[in-house]
Parts: sequence; structure tokens; C-alpha cells
Amino acid sequence: MFGRWRRHWLLRQEAAALRRRAIADDLWKRTRVRYPFLQRRDPATDAELRRLTSLFLDRKEFSAVGGLALTDAMAVAIAAQAVLPVLRLGLAAYDGFVGIVIHPDQVVARREVADEDGIVHEYDEVLAGEAMEGGPVMLSWHDVRAAGRTEGTAYNVVIHEFAHVLDLTNGEADGMPLLPPGLAAVDWRATLGEALARLRQAVAADAATVIDPYGAEGEEEFFAVASEAFFVSPAALRQDSPALYALLVRYYRQDPAEEMAQPPSRPVRHHRGT
Ligand SMILES: [Zn+2]
Repeated sequence: MFGRWRRHWLLRQEAAALRRRAIADDLWKRTRVRYPFLQRRDPATDAELRRLTSLFLDRKEFSAVGGLALTDAMAVAIAAQAVLPVLRLGLAAYDGFVGIVIHPDQVVARREVADEDGIVHEYDEVLAGEAMEGGPVMLSWHDVRAAGRTEGTAYNVVIHEFAHVLDLTNGEADGMPLLPPGLAAVDWRATLGEALARLRQAVAADAATVIDPYGAEGEEEFFAVASEAFFVSPAALRQDSPALYALLVRYYRQDPAEEMAQPPSRPVRHHRGT
């Protein structure tokens, strides 16, 4: 009885949140045009992405710093890209944090590292985004805006940072999120490890890669950049790394190469005779 009552209460809460955070048709359309990898062929899938985007906006606290003015368009753009990876996993995967802090541009962070003799060295790290346990998630708006393009190496700072958030769902940032039943950790490690070794070889040979070379840093970064490619250039990733692509399909329970709306065909140019 209690379970049913609670479920009813949750549905009412959700309906209220969806009314509060409804995304206007026009704004949703513009977001899809600006970030074409969000487009899904099936209208029901698109509606679910939009619904979860509203719920995400309701549950998270957005703040802009450094003189940046936060607009609805910015919040919707970030929320929709953050929600894409959890379209079939559910928003609960993001329950561990609330805040999203948006900077105008990349941020320089002072870091300290102790060497084997215990001597602490300071260095500067330039960040386009950052995710940490318990939040907040930090994003550079300059980099978020750069993510609309799909040609070349996949680059998407929002998907990158939220892949790190998912990675943290099983405790550590180690390139392995909480896996669903039926997906064994040993298979995950083997497939990811093989793909990472291939990326390192390609980077060493200075070859062009579908996956951002930054992923060569280690398992944790590799999972984040592989997720970027999976959602932004899925057809290219499927062709380049079929085993990795298939593993990510099983984890994310999505097949973006199949589900993404077809890119608009190139307009036919008619040349007029002079
Ligand atoms: Zn990263």
C-alpha cells in the first residue's frame, strides 16, 4: 500500500516539475538544430529526451560565474546534452550532485602533486570542464558551444564530464561505471583496454583518430572521450572500433548510429547558365 502511495506522490511531483520546467517548442527546436547529435528519428525518443531535460533542469542548480549571464537557451543546451547519456539509464545516476557551474571560458586550476620523496610540486592545469564526487560539475561555456560540430575528432565537454559522473557511480574514477547485470567487469576491462591500446598506438604514430587522443592518458579519460565519440560521431566510432561501440551500446542501452536522425542530405546546387 505504501509503495503505491509513494509512486502516486512521485508521479504528481514529476508532473509539477514538468509544468514548471516546460521547454518551449521553439527553444527545443533551436537546441536540436544547434546540437544535431541530439536529434532522434523516433518521436517518442525525442519526447523522452525533452521530458528528462525538463526534470534535470528542475533537479539541478545552474549558476554562471565570471560575468557570464545564464540564459534559458544555455541551461537547456547543457541539460539536454547531459541527459543524452542517461536517456535509458535514468536520471538517478546523477543524484550524487546538484550544482552545475558555468564559466565563460576555460579555467586555470592550481594543482599540487607530491613526488616520491614527498616534495610537493605545484602546477597549473587548464580545464574545459571538471566533475568530482558530490559535485559540482564545472563547464566552460566557450567549450560547450564548440560542441555542435560533428566532423573530425569528436569533442563534447558536457558528455565528457557527465561520463566522469557515471564513472563515479561505482565509487572510483577508473573508467568503469556501475555496470548493468549481464555486463561483466572482466569484459568491460578487456574491450576498453584493447581499444585504449589501439588509441595509444595511433597517437604514437601520429595518425588521425575518431576518439580524442586525450583518451590515451588512461582508462578514466578513455571512457569519457569514447563516450563523446559514441554520442557525437557514432557511425565513425562503429566503423573504427566495432567491439568498443557494441560494448557502449550494451552499457548506455542506446544505438546512436541507428537512432540518430539522418543528417540532412547535401543541398543540390543548380547552376544557372550564363
Ligand atoms: Zn576528463
